[in-house]
Amino acid sequence: MQLAIWTYEGPPHIGAMRVATAMQGLHYVLHAPQGDTYADLLFTMIERRGARPPVTYTTFQARDLGGDTAELFKSAARDAFRRFQPQAMIVGASCTAELIQDDPGGLARALDLPIPVIPLELPSYQKKENWGAAETFYRLVRGLCAPPAPRPAGRAPSCNILGPTALGFRHRDDLREITGLLERMGIAVNVTAPLGATPADLTRLGEADFNVVLYPETAAPAAAWLARAHAQPATKTIPIGLNATREFIAEVAALAGIDPAPVLAAESSRSAWYSRSVDSNYLTGKRVFVFGDATHALAAARVATEELGFTLVGLGSYAREQARELRDAAKAHGIEATISEDYLAVEAAIQAAQPELILGTQMERHTAKRLGIPCAVISAPVHVQDYPARYSPQMGFEGANVLFDTWVHPLMMGLEEHLLGMFREDFEFQAEAAPSHLGATAAATPTLPATLTWTAEAERELGKIPFFVRGKARRNTERYATERSIGTITLEALYDAKAHFSR
Ligand code: SF4
Repeated sequence: MQLAIWTYEGPPHIGAMRVATAMQGLHYVLHAPQGDTYADLLFTMIERRGARPPVTYTTFQARDLGGDTAELFKSAARDAFRRFQPQAMIVGASCTAELIQDDPGGLARALDLPIPVIPLELPSYQKKENWGAAETFYRLVRGLCAPPAPRPAGRAPSCNILGPTALGFRHRDDLREITGLLERMGIAVNVTAPLGATPADLTRLGEADFNVVLYPETAAPAAAWLARAHAQPATKTIPIGLNATREFIAEVAALAGIDPAPVLAAESSRSAWYSRSVDSNYLTGKRVFVFGDATHALAAARVATEELGFTLVGLGSYAREQARELRDAAKAHGIEATISEDYLAVEAAIQAAQPELILGTQMERHTAKRLGIPCAVISAPVHVQDYPARYSPQMGFEGANVLFDTWVHPLMMGLEEHLLGMFREDFEFQAEAAPSHLGATAAATPTLPATLTWTAEAERELGKIPFFVRGKARRNTERYATERSIGTITLEALYDAKAHFSR
């Protein structure tokens, strides 16, 4: 058992639902207890889709457990086929149904439906949502993709785009951005999947020359299988940020056998100039803590340090599968990665790192609010406001513009920061003030270790340090004092600590 209040990911059948809902002409029959239909709301409310997900739940109740739940599943599958007439079906169990072991795959096979029926084995007690999406997509591709067709010579290079799903963070707009980029390069998109694809489309996957993998969390197993079975290479670079987008263009051009120069020369992003302009000088060295799914966390760490000049003081993910990659990336910045599904552990890591900006998920937004630290969202899980009406990709050149605006926005502007430093005694720009849009509760100080006290004089001196590094200075001084068994922090101890840490 694990006490869990917030979870970063849902159970794996939610991942399967994300794939089914992304596609057209596919139906999911889910053996699940009454109440599991809550998952519909993720799609109809949070993502604001105009149609119910293509999912039929068996919704068994307590009294059904004494009867024939297997029969219940069979009639649900039969009815779903009759009513929705899908091209293909996936069948599986939710966590509770996994315990009653009715074997949805075997039961569906016994129905002998005239369409492909793909059974899903999603171990709900070991795996999570992203794994469920990746496994479902892999099973579908493996089950439906036709044998490799000969690729006619002289044809324009073509690729599949793999990974975007329903309920994906900015998948809709990333897809538009990357499709446009590929078009400008003269590369045809054969199939985009799962988002927008039909089972019939999946049979044609083998016709492309290579695969563009946008989200390894959902597409890596399918892409690996296509590489083995259809000799299709796949892209490795995730085009989030300017540098990564340029590398992505070069990688795609190499796979397609074309020259990347014209597209690189026509680069249209404003973010390169914005982050170089003098107004961005004050961003240099800002302490940032990054947390999210592995793809977005790694990309954000790179953009933050390479393109905006921030200093990375924390990096982590709830995705244990990519822990090694994250650890390596963190090590390159002299820090240790936070790999955890426990938001309290993430909160503790944030408090210890004392960042000036958090880039994270919806959970980190709450944590940031509590701690009074500016924050921007970079990864799922996200709430309704991160399925915006406006065009707001994370990927490609326009994505780089969106990242710049989104990440800089929560920070205090340079002038405000400067005024705060100059007019510490001012009623408006006083030392404890937070960025004007964060309200009066911001800039919380960490709790003092029980054995330590500060003299009034030392506290006053600490107050002269700009607020955004004050927390760090306080923590360092207290650590210095604790290590030397100094009980009271005097002005002298404060200066000694400062000298010690600036050595
Ligand atoms: S079956 Fe799983 S997802 Fe459904 S209510 Fe039970 S624990 Fe939640």
